[in-house]
Amino acid sequence: MPDIKVAKHAGFCFGVKKAIEVAEDVAKNNDGKTYVHGQLVHNEKVIQDLESKGIVFVENINEIPQNAITVLRAHGEPGTTYQLLKEKSITKGNNLNDATCPLVTLVHNVAIKLKNNGYEVILFGKKNHPEAIGTSYHLKGKNTFIVEHEDDYEQVLEYISSNVFDKVAIISQTTMSVNGYKKLIENINSRLDKEKFELIPLSLKELDKKYGYVDTICNPTKQRQSDIDELAMDRDIIIVIGGLNSSNSKELYAKAKEFGVESYFIQSAEQLNPEWFDGKEKIGVTAGASTPDYLIDEVSHRIKEITSGKQEDEIKI
Ligand code: SF4
Repeated sequence: MPDIKVAKHAGFCFGVKKAIEVAEDVAKNNDGKTYVHGQLVHNEKVIQDLESKGIVFVENINEIPQNAITVLRAHGEPGTTYQLLKEKSITKGNNLNDATCPLVTLVHNVAIKLKNNGYEVILFGKKNHPEAIGTSYHLKGKNTFIVEHEDDYEQVLEYISSNVFDKVAIISQTTMSVNGYKKLIENINSRLDKEKFELIPLSLKELDKKYGYVDTICNPTKQRQSDIDELAMDRDIIIVIGGLNSSNSKELYAKAKEFGVESYFIQSAEQLNPEWFDGKEKIGVTAGASTPDYLIDEVSHRIKEITSGKQEDEIKI
């Protein structure tokens, strides 16, 4: 019987759990509609479940009616969102329920403090991700320099050399690749002669470095990525479950492939192809921070069905 191992830290992180609890709680105690700006968390199944509980997801704030009960997503929002909601009489302590993850708020606070201490702050993140957009608001808005990939280090060097900055700091979106961030810093440093980028502790006590970077990738992301290291050591195949827009799930998939292990990124059990498991003895399953436990269970169950079915066929032959 093939051995199926599910990663220790697969699935919901505490920030996602909290956001869903907030939304469900608000919807339960509200006879009318509850509005959420954007995807509360990046998982299509979770969104469908919440829609069935009377929650309305809108992409544009203009679609939220005046005075409506509103929940803000886990990824954080730019200050403009709060201003626009205030114009609709939607405010905190009243009808606005903010589910921003505290670890995203921490990144906002780091960005603000670095900026206030004279740093030009560069963000390692995905330009279209709501978290990166929200963090940018605390820096230079649309003009914030965002680097998306470690191989784009030359763009960072060019940005620094074509401007006159007293001090430069790099921070990261919470869900980026730990290795990618490390490589980005190494790549940049390999091209600098004298002063190099050095780690600034999260406490931000040492703000005298000319070039610094702060490790703002959240712990749940790190745990899920480090579980991939473990799975890759002895698994023949790795299945990653996550939403199509989920940054941290896509990073898990990319990491599994980097290790050279046959890997697949799926949203649900129906997408599993029995042929993937031909000749595989050791199967690894993991899931991004916005994937519910029941999807992990469904996928594990389906893999068991597929692999035990195969065994029965083999016995019959
Ligand atoms: S992935 Fe990290 S930052 Fe994002 S919601 Fe989860 S704990 Fe918070």
